[in-house]
Amino acid sequence: MDSIKYNKLITLALEWNEKINITAIRDRDEFLKKNILDSLEIAGFPEMERANTVMDLGTGGGYPGLPLAIHYPDKQFVLVDSVQKKLKIIDDICKKLEISNVKTVHGRAEDLGKTPGIRDSCDLVVSRAVAAMPTLAEWALPFVKPGGFFAAYKTEDAYDEIAAANKAIESLGGKLRSINTSVSRDSGHVIVLVEKLVETPAEFPRKAGEAKKNPII
Ligand code: SAH
Repeated sequence: MDSIKYNKLITLALEWNEKINITAIRDRDEFLKKNILDSLEIAGFPEMERANTVMDLGTGGGYPGLPLAIHYPDKQFVLVDSVQKKLKIIDDICKKLEISNVKTVHGRAEDLGKTPGIRDSCDLVVSRAVAAMPTLAEWALPFVKPGGFFAAYKTEDAYDEIAAANKAIESLGGKLRSINTSVSRDSGHVIVLVEKLVETPAEFPRKAGEAKKNPII
């Protein structure tokens, strides 16, 4: 693990947090556990190891995307969020840490998911704490190349939510592959892996707000 870079990341993120409050975390140890180690939970998964292009959808301050980009300097990361000021912070941190494999993209999943060049472009889409599973599947799967994966970081109490997303996942061309409980790092997260088998029908994602207001069930 590149501990010097992670240490600097914590310092810069906490400095930014004093200016613009983006996380409630103030303490270095807590930051390490909740934002760095938790983000790295997917490291070592074959779906992660095989991916060349990885999107973090709804990245916020850069999690899980930034720690993963540090861990995998040879992979390309696209960090997406609908709030530009968060992306500016990520850009600043990447510049200061000389992280060159991260591109930030501003926009809503519903709009970017229809944009040629971004749709169907990623081997893996990761996402943490963005939306309930049926909504998230509609936002994330359009970005995945057929044969690629979507990995949702979910809390351990999300099993009902995950089960309720089966119909949505299949309507979007995907299949639920596994729910992976962490044993090693005690994060409280499970990683839900969805494979995209075929192209997502062109009608998805629906217009902005629709997947949240009226999820596929
Ligand atoms: N993944 C980060 C942030 C979670 S907060 C973490 O775990 O710390 C959820 C983030 O998703 C916010 O930054 C919000 O701006 C973004 N978001 C919410 N809806 C979105 C949408 N439709 N498209 C893109 N980003 C969205």
